[in-house]
Amino acid sequence: MSEILPGVHLVDGVDEGTHVYLLKDKGATWTLLDTGLPGASTAILAYLAKLKIEPTSVKKVLVTHLHRDHTGSLKAMLEATRARSFSHWIEAAFIAGDPPYDGPGMPPVESVRIDEPFKDGDTIDAAGGLIAYHTPGHTPGHTSFYQTERKLLFSGDLFFVDDGKLILTTPEYTQHTPTAKISARRMSRLSVESLLTYHGGPILKNGGGAVRRLAETL
Ligand SMILES: [Zn+2]
Repeated sequence: MSEILPGVHLVDGVDEGTHVYLLKDKGATWTLLDTGLPGASTAILAYLAKLKIEPTSVKKVLVTHLHRDHTGSLKAMLEATRARSFSHWIEAAFIAGDPPYDGPGMPPVESVRIDEPFKDGDTIDAAGGLIAYHTPGHTPGHTSFYQTERKLLFSGDLFFVDDGKLILTTPEYTQHTPTAKISARRMSRLSVESLLTYHGGPILKNGGGAVRRLAETL
């Protein structure tokens, strides 16, 4: 069991190098944040079973962005949980395949209709309240989620932890790096204790310091 912070689980057994998070809501329900590559649903469901959590107790699935390593098991997880799906409205269109995504990085493997497209600044009633911050650059509708009370920032692929060092996700996988820099600077103004990255990391203590140090170099 990988409960890395109270109510924040890093799901075991998902493809190496990807961090799918399972978050406890205020009541008895759960939220899944990103879904891994196609096939990762097997590991996610096994993890839920290990914790004796009914799949239908997962009521919301949040997606940071369209890339296949985040949406690959979205359809399978929605079918297993009957949860509502959430993403930024721009990503929702690409995840539905209308239009198909032609930027860098792997596009979604199958089209999924997002139930609850949100916009920048919306608060999602999950994990004690998550603010959706539109942080474009990596993809057009990339979103980071911020839990104000506990100062948690789920940063998707805005950042990457490479050998313990926080960097921007590399241009190879990023649609527009100058825009990602602006997003990183915006996130550096938040008060962050734990930075929950998707590849590498997470940085559980003083994640905000790491973001500020990086932002100063951009
Ligand atoms: Zn990505």
